[in-house]
Amino acid sequence: MAAKITGYETHDVRFPTSLTGDGTDAMNTDCDYSSAYVTLTTSTDLVGHGMTFTIGRGNDIVCSAIKEVANKLVGKDVEELFANMGATWDYLCSDPQLRWIGPEKGVIHIALGAVNNALWDMYARSRKKPLWKLIVDMTPEELVRSTAFRYISDAITKEEALAMLKAKEATKAEREARVREVGYPAYVTSAGWLGYSDEKVARLTKEAVQAGFNHFKMKVGADGDSDLRRGKIIRSIIDDPQYLPAGHTPRDPNGPALIGKNAGPTGSVLMIDANQVWDVPQAIDYVASLEEIKPWFIEEPTAPDDILGHAAIRKALKPHGIGVATGEHAHNRMVFKQLLQAEAIDVCQIDSCRLAGVSEVLSVLLMAAKFGVTVCPHAGGVGLCEYVIHLSLIDYIAVSGSMERNVLEFVDHLHEHFLYPCSINKNGRYNVPGDANEGYSIEMHKSSIARYEWPRGSYWVQEHAAAKAAKTASH
Ligand SMILES: [Mg+2]
Repeated sequence: MAAKITGYETHDVRFPTSLTGDGTDAMNTDCDYSSAYVTLTTSTDLVGHGMTFTIGRGNDIVCSAIKEVANKLVGKDVEELFANMGATWDYLCSDPQLRWIGPEKGVIHIALGAVNNALWDMYARSRKKPLWKLIVDMTPEELVRSTAFRYISDAITKEEALAMLKAKEATKAEREARVREVGYPAYVTSAGWLGYSDEKVARLTKEAVQAGFNHFKMKVGADGDSDLRRGKIIRSIIDDPQYLPAGHTPRDPNGPALIGKNAGPTGSVLMIDANQVWDVPQAIDYVASLEEIKPWFIEEPTAPDDILGHAAIRKALKPHGIGVATGEHAHNRMVFKQLLQAEAIDVCQIDSCRLAGVSEVLSVLLMAAKFGVTVCPHAGGVGLCEYVIHLSLIDYIAVSGSMERNVLEFVDHLHEHFLYPCSINKNGRYNVPGDANEGYSIEMHKSSIARYEWPRGSYWVQEHAAAKAAKTASH
C-alpha cells in the first residue's frame, strides 16, 4: 500500500557550546549550536528526518514555522511527492499566506529547508540509498525535475542544465569509484576560532596538520594586530615541513589544485573569515593589511545581501592576490545567481540549511558549474558536516565533475549526537557515506534529543547551572 504522510514532530535541541568558546567569530560571540529538528511520519514505518541550524535563541520560532510548512504535507502520497521533487518544493514554497512572511528568506525559508531535507531523507531511505547516491543515480531529466528552477532561467535554463548533466553522465561511475577510494577534500576551521588562546590555536593547528589537512581557516575581524599575530602562528606551522605527518611529502604550490590559492612551501593554504563585520571600504583596507599571511580568500567580508559590495571588494583585492568567498547567509538561489552574474565571488559557499533544502541547493550547484565557480560548502555548527558531504559528492559526481580545487569545511564538534556521523580519513578527507539506511545522515540519537531539548531536557534542567558556574569560577 502506498505510504501517506500522517504527521510530524519537531524538537528544539540546543547544545551549550557558549561554555567552551567553540564557534566564536567576530560576529557570533555567544553561540549555543542548535537544531530545529523535524521528523515526518507516514502510514508505514517509513520516516524522514531533517533539521535546520541556528545558534540558540529563536530556535523555538523556527520550530513553529516548521510546523506550518510540514502541515502542508499531511495526507500526501509520498510516491507522488517523490516523483516530482521540484514541483513538491514549489508547492511547499508557494503557500499563499506563509509566503508573505518571506518570501524565500528568513525563518520561513530555513523552516522550509528543514522540511525539504526531511522529505529528501525519506526519499533516500525508501530507496535504500544514502541521499547522494539517490541523486547521482538519477537521469539528467530526473535531476532537473528535482531542482527548484523558478526565477533563475536568465542564468541557466532547464535545457542548458540537461545538456551539462548529460555531458557528465558517461563518466559518473569513474568519479564515484575515485571518491569512494580517496575521499572528498576537506579543510579545518576548528583551530582558528577567535575565542581560543594563541597556545590553543598553535596546538590545534599542529594536530590538524598531523591529521592530514592542508587547508586551514582562521576567524578574523575583531582586531587587526591580533589577526596578523594568529595568522603568522598558523602559517609558521602549516608552512614548515617538520610538522607534516610521517611519509607526507609537500605538495606543489604551483600545481593545478593549488594555483591561485597562495599556497606556502608545503602546499598548505590559509583562508580567513570575517562573518560579515565590515562595511565595504573597511573590508578592503583590513584585508589588504593581512596580505602578509597570504590568504586564499576572505569569507563573508560584508553584509550577505550586498552583491555589488562583494563585487567591489573582489575587484579591489585582486591586485593583492586575495579572493572573495561567501554564501552561508545567502538566503536563496537568486542571491547566488546575482553573486555569479556580478562576478562577485571566487568560491561559492552553499549552506545545506540556509537554502531551502536539497532542491534549492541543486539549482545553485548547476549555476555555479555553469559559471565555472568552485563550490566549497559551509559546514560546522551541528549537523552541517553530516549534510554537506552528500552535496559535495553530488557536485563532483553528477554536476561539476571536479573536486581538485574544492575543499569542504570540517569542524570536529557534536558529531556524536548522530546515528551516522561523518568521518575523515587519514589524509584529512571526508569518507563517503555508505549505509543503505542513513538517508541524508541527519538522524539524531533519541537520547541526545531527550538530554538537550530546550528548555526541559535533562541537561538544561539538571546540569547547566552547575556547568555555567564552573565556567565563571575558572575565569
Ligand atoms: Mg563562515
